[in-house]
Amino acid sequence: MTAATVLVADDSLLIRAVVRSGLEEEGYRVVEAVDGIAALAQCRSTVPDAVLLDIEMPGLNGYEVLQRLKADPALAHIPVVFLTSRTDTADIVAGLRGGAHDYLKKPFEPAELLARVGSAVHLKQVQDQLWERNAELDRISRTDSLTGLYNRWHLQDELTRQRRTAQRHREPLAVILFDIDHFKQVNDRHGHPAGDLVLCEFARRLSSQVRSGDVVGRWGGEEFLVLMPRTDRTGAVTVAERIRAVTAATPVSGGDVDIAITVSGGCALGSADASDDLIRLADDRLYEAKTGGRNRIVAGPVP
Ligand code: GH3
Ligand code: MG
Ligand code: MG
Ligand code: MG
Repeated sequence: MTAATVLVADDSLLIRAVVRSGLEEEGYRVVEAVDGIAALAQCRSTVPDAVLLDIEMPGLNGYEVLQRLKADPALAHIPVVFLTSRTDTADIVAGLRGGAHDYLKKPFEPAELLARVGSAVHLKQVQDQLWERNAELDRISRTDSLTGLYNRWHLQDELTRQRRTAQRHREPLAVILFDIDHFKQVNDRHGHPAGDLVLCEFARRLSSQVRSGDVVGRWGGEEFLVLMPRTDRTGAVTVAERIRAVTAATPVSGGDVDIAITVSGGCALGSADASDDLIRLADDRLYEAKTGGRNRIVAGPVP
């Protein structure tokens, strides 16, 4: 593990030197700031694991630095320990209410300083771990475990977001819902593991056929959804047709057998009307594609 970094922000050269040597002896990496402005700049550039913050400093004082740190989502989680020569309880309370993790009165005992810095750094490390685990859980909760594509939950979220953006910028938004034809037969003839393989291969092809801004996911079972921002009807149909044609032309290799599949698709376009249910519209058209003979794309009437 890399050494924890502590920022010592104090306008006194002596304090900085004493604190630095004590912390470095304990294995911390130390960065310094000579005033409030420099302290903020150091926080932005190094994102330390704890800040020892003097209150009386030229430019911004310690309270003001704390306030700005707490107002910045990227820095708010850095624990701040005030180093203060103020002995008035009201000052200390003000600091803690402002979000300081702890405080230390000058003159301080080196052992106490180390103990308080240690607790602040520990808090930061536990928070960082939690944050990483949360990010990982969030990623897992949005991913389909079979294909690695986004799952329905994420797609719904993304659709809401994309619709808002499309309406704000008055841009088109296309969705395509694909469903593999007679997929039950793939399972029946070749077995469920082969069915899984087909789903994974179709997912891979789908991802490789769309642009980088498009969002591809598994809507459910053998249904896949593509969200295409800034895409009109012609663009969506072109992509959908290409995917349909590639799917029909290229059987999936299932080891000793090639598994031929086809896919049907329904396209829907977002209009300025937020109440359009795009998924429902795409699903209706997908149904039309199925009843119309499968291996086809239905995009509705040309407006
Ligand atoms: P259609 O052309 O009308 O879409 O026919 P279909 O057979 O594809 O549709 P149906 O909805 O009857 O069957 C879908 C099948 O997909 C049934 C289900 O067992 C299978 N399926 C759903 N999820 C998975 C999966 O994760 N793995 C495998 N191997 N099969 C799945
Ligand atoms: Mg000072
Ligand atoms: Mg289906
Ligand atoms: Mg199907």
